[in-house]
Amino acid sequence: MRLVLMGPPGAGKGTQAKVLCEHLGVPHISTGDLFRENIRDLTDLGRTAQGYIDAGEFVPDEVTNAMVRDRLKRPDAVNGFVLDGFPRTLTQVAALDDMLAESGVVLDLVIELEVDLEVVVSRLLLRAIAEHRPDDTEAVIRHRLALYTDQTAPLIAHYANRGLLAGIDAIGPVDEVRDRLFAAVRP
Ligand code: AMP
Repeated sequence: MRLVLMGPPGAGKGTQAKVLCEHLGVPHISTGDLFRENIRDLTDLGRTAQGYIDAGEFVPDEVTNAMVRDRLKRPDAVNGFVLDGFPRTLTQVAALDDMLAESGVVLDLVIELEVDLEVVVSRLLLRAIAEHRPDDTEAVIRHRLALYTDQTAPLIAHYANRGLLAGIDAIGPVDEVRDRLFAAVRP
């Protein structure tokens, strides 16, 4: 199963993506995690990405697309994956389509985790405090949400037009959201 998990920052994508991947037996490909690994390992890619991430900006499409292209070529992703945090722009949608077309495969489903944006701001602020992420200020958080609304939310209509979208109510206990997610991916 080749799946994209969408939703604003703070919607619980990371948590739900991990559970879903275990359920489906496919790898979890999170661009945010890949960038953070590169930053931790002091790679060139990490150095390039760091400034953008700290400012709550998108890493440029060509950098992000190249990283995803490499990741999708690894053997574990051949039979399926859950993409988390990618695509985030229409340019990335086109790049993903190209990558899959080169392998002769298509996306099966795009799932949107639906949440109220104000709920998400307070969740993210609590997380910034709990995880000691002092650079996750309210201004940066609001900027990331604005980018989501401007750049990423239009992808939802795009995938809906292609008949690929399933929306999930993502407000509620983690287990309940998980059950809704499992129901959405049931063949
Ligand atoms: P995330 O963990 O998905 O919230 O991603 C953390 C940060 O990594 C984002 O705020 C962006 O700076 C960067 N990032 C992650 N995925 C992408 C993407 N698809 N395109 C551009 N930047 C991204």
